[in-house]
Amino acid sequence: MSEERVTLFAEILLPLPIPGSFTYRVPYELNMRAKIGQRAVVQFGKSKIMSGLIMSLSTNVPDCNNIKYLLDILDDEPVINENQQKLWKWIASYYMCYLGEVMQAALPSALKLSSESKISLAEDFEVDNANLSDNEYLITEALQIQPQLTITEVSKIIGYKKVMPLIKTMIEKKLIVMHEELQQKYKAKYERYVRLTNTYRDDDKMHELMDNLSKRAYKQLELLMAFLVLGGSADNEVLASELLKKANVASSILNTLVEKDVFETYYKRVSRLKNYKALTDVSSIILTDKQQEAFDEIHKGFDEDKPVLLHGVTASGKTEIYIKLIQEAIDQGKQVLYLLPEIALTEQIINRLKKYFGDKVGVYHSRYDDNERVEIWHQVMNFNSQQSTDNSQQTLSKVKHSKFQIIIGSRSSLFLPFTDLGLIIVDEEHDSSFKQVDPAPRYSARDVAAVMSKMFAARLLLGSATPSFESYHNACQGKYHLVTITERYGGVEMPEIVVDDLRIETRRKTMQANFGSVLVDAMNKTLEEKNQVILFQNRRGFSLRIECDHCNYIPQCINCDVSLTYHKNQNILKCHYCGYMTNVPTECPSCRSTDLKMHGFGTERIEDDLKIVFPQATSSRLDLDTTRTKNSYQYILEQFQNKETDILVGTQMVTKGLDFDSVKVVGILNADNMLTFPDFRAYERSYQLMEQVSGRAGRKGEKGKVIIQTYQPQHPVILNVMSHDYVRFFEEQMPIRRQFNYPPYSRLIMIRLKDVDSMKLNKAAELLSRSLRQVFKENLLGPEYPVVSRVKNQYIKQMIIKVDKNLNINKVKEFIGSTIENFKHDHDFKSVKIQIDVDPN
Ligand code: ADP
Ligand code: ZN
Ligand code: ZN
Repeated sequence: MSEERVTLFAEILLPLPIPGSFTYRVPYELNMRAKIGQRAVVQFGKSKIMSGLIMSLSTNVPDCNNIKYLLDILDDEPVINENQQKLWKWIASYYMCYLGEVMQAALPSALKLSSESKISLAEDFEVDNANLSDNEYLITEALQIQPQLTITEVSKIIGYKKVMPLIKTMIEKKLIVMHEELQQKYKAKYERYVRLTNTYRDDDKMHELMDNLSKRAYKQLELLMAFLVLGGSADNEVLASELLKKANVASSILNTLVEKDVFETYYKRVSRLKNYKALTDVSSIILTDKQQEAFDEIHKGFDEDKPVLLHGVTASGKTEIYIKLIQEAIDQGKQVLYLLPEIALTEQIINRLKKYFGDKVGVYHSRYDDNERVEIWHQVMNFNSQQSTDNSQQTLSKVKHSKFQIIIGSRSSLFLPFTDLGLIIVDEEHDSSFKQVDPAPRYSARDVAAVMSKMFAARLLLGSATPSFESYHNACQGKYHLVTITERYGGVEMPEIVVDDLRIETRRKTMQANFGSVLVDAMNKTLEEKNQVILFQNRRGFSLRIECDHCNYIPQCINCDVSLTYHKNQNILKCHYCGYMTNVPTECPSCRSTDLKMHGFGTERIEDDLKIVFPQATSSRLDLDTTRTKNSYQYILEQFQNKETDILVGTQMVTKGLDFDSVKVVGILNADNMLTFPDFRAYERSYQLMEQVSGRAGRKGEKGKVIIQTYQPQHPVILNVMSHDYVRFFEEQMPIRRQFNYPPYSRLIMIRLKDVDSMKLNKAAELLSRSLRQVFKENLLGPEYPVVSRVKNQYIKQMIIKVDKNLNINKVKEFIGSTIENFKHDHDFKSVKIQIDVDPN
C-alpha cells in the first residue's frame, strides 16, 4: 500500500502469449488499495478490457509517454503471492515461453475476466433465495431471457466502469458462472435403480410370473425374490448394485428381466457432497513391517532434504503410506499437494482420502466446476490467516480446522497459491500425462513439483511401481533417496503372467475374433466364479479402418495426414486429430470395387466381439470416446465397481491405479503395437503399461492372472514383465540410452514448425536448422516430418536438439531463444508458427 499523493505505475501481466508486461498508471484514488498480486482492470488495445495481475508497483516514471490509467482494482487482497510469481517466472524461463502463457494456464477462468468472457446463471440459481443488489438483479434478469452474455454486453446494461467488479462479486456469490466452464462442468454422480414395470405391479401377473420362473428360470426367480426381500414393491425401487449383491447373480440376469419387461432400470442423480466428515482415524491404519520399514526409510530421505522415490510394486500399499505422511504434514499445520496423473483414478483416491481427512480434502481439476475451483483457490491462499484467527479464538484447541488443507489434483493444481506447503506427493510419477503438451507452457508437473518443493522447503515424494527412467536414474545417482517395497500388501502374490503366442493360435486356427484360446479359457473360468476381467487394448479405434481389398485404398482425413477411423456407433469415419467426419463409402473411390474390408481392431470392435464370444457376460468400454460425455466416466467405473459389468475394455485409462477387488484376469490384447511405436521411450512405456495393467489383477485374496497376446513372445520387454523385474529391465535399457545419448543422459529440446504452405514450411525449417546446426552439429536431429505430418491443415516439421548434460542449459536456451527470435523477424516466414518443447514426452 502506498501514500495517497504519489504517482504510482503498475506493471500489469495479461494472460496472453506476448512478451513482457504492460505499464499502467494507478489513479490517485486507488493508490491506497493497490497491492502486488491483485487483479486490475485495464484497457488493452482499442476497445478490449481485461483483468491482469499487478506484478510490481513503482514511482519511477517510465520513459514512454501517454501511459493509460488502469481502470479499477478487482480484489481487496492479492490472488497470487510471491512464491507464485517466482514459480511462474521459473516455468517461463525453463520451458521457454511467455509469462502471460503461464498466467493463462495457472489461473482458473473465473479469475481471468475480459470483455469477451461469457457468463451464465449458476445452475442452482433461484431468484427468490438470492439477495440481490439492483445491478445484480438487472443482470440475472437479463440472463433469464438470454442465457449467455459477454461482459461487453453486460457493460451496456450497467455501464463500462462498474462491470468487472460486479462480475467478480457475482461469481463469488455463486449467482453466475463463466460460460466456458459450464460445458464441461463437474460430472454429477448417478446410481442405477430397479423398479417393476406397470404390467407387473399387478398381483395376479406377479404370481403368474413367479410360477413360470420357478419352472425354468431359477436365477431370475432368485433375483425377483431378492427384489422383494429388499423392500421392492409396486411403488418401491431398489438400488441395482444392492439387488445384484443380495441375489448373488450376474447382471445379465437383471438385463434379461428388463428385456422381458418385468423390470425397468433408470439412473438417479445422487449428491456428491455427502457428509464429508472424516469417518476413520489415520491411526487405525496399521502398517505392515515392510510398509513401516519403507515409511522410516522415507523419513531418512526427508531428513537429508532429498526428494524420495518410492518404488513399490502394484498393491504394495503405497497409498496407505501416503495417508500416514499426509497426517504428519497436517499435524505440523502444513498444506499438502497430492498430484495424480488424470481424472481416471481421482475418484477412488478422493474417497479413500476423504474417509480419513473429511472436508480437509479439496479436489482441483480442470473438469470441475469453476466456482468450486475459485473457492479452493481462495481457501488455499488464505490458509495461514485462517489458522491464526482460529488459534486466537480457541487457543486451547490444537485442532486447526482448515478446509482444503489437502489438495488432490491433476497437473494444474500446482498453480494454486500455496502459502505453507509441507508435502508434495506425485503419485504414478512415471505417467506421461503429467506433461502438458499443448498449449504452452509445456511443463512437466513432476519436474515443476521438484522445483516447488525446493522453493517451499517442502517434502517431495514420487511414487510408482514403474518409475520413469529419469527418476530412477536420479535415485541411482543419489539425487533422490530410493525406497523400495517388493511385496504386495497381505502377502498377495504378484499375478502370474502367461504369454500367448499368437503365431501358434493363428496357425492352429484357435483364435475367436481377437481372443486367443488361452485368454478365452481364463476368462470363462473367472466369469464362472463371478469375478471380473479387464482387457487392455492400446489404442481406441486407431487401427480400425476401412481398406479396399483390391487396390489397398484407405480413406484419409482431408485436413490431416492420417487414415480415418471407423466408428460403428454412428457408422461413420472419423479423424482422431481434427474431428473431421464422413460417411462410409459404399465403393472404393479409387477403383470402384465394393470389397471394402475392416482392418485391425480398436476398443470398440473388441466390445462387439465380446458379445459374440462371451454372450452371457456384460461389458463396458473405457476410452476417450466413451468418456467424453457427461458423467460417463464415473458411470462406467461405478458400474464395474458394483459388479454390474463383468468385463471392462479400455485403452491406457484402464491401466491407471484402479483398485478393484474382484478383477482376477487381465488380458493385454496386442502387445506388439506398443513395442513397435517409433520413439526412444517405446520400450519404457510398454513396460510401464503392461506392468501397470497387470497390477490390476488379483489385488486382494487369490492370485491373479495376466495374459499377454503377442507375436513376439521372446521380446525382452515381455520377458521382464513376466518376472516383474523392473530393475533388471532398467539396467538392460540404460546402456542403449547412453549409447545414443538420449535422456536421462541428455536433455532434449524439440522445435516444431507449422504452416499451411508445405513449401514455405520446408524452407523455413531448412533455414532455421542451418543456423542451429552451426552450434549443435550432429546433436541436432531433423528437421523431419513427425509420424503425423499434417494436422488441421497445418504441415508440421520438427527438429530435436540433444543437449549434453554438462553444457550450461541456460546458455543453450538463450542461444536457441535468440536464434528463433531473429528468425521470426524474417518477413517471408511471418505465418510460420514455432513451438518450443523443453523435455518433450
Ligand atoms: P498401491 O497404491 O501400492 O497400488 P494400495 O495402497 O492401493 O496399493 O493398497 C492395495 C490394497 O491393500 C488397498 O485396498 C489397501 O486398502 C490395502 N492395504 C494396503 N496396506 C494396508 C494396511 N497397512 N492395512 C490395511 N489395508 C491395506
Ligand atoms: Zn480400391
Ligand atoms: Zn483430421
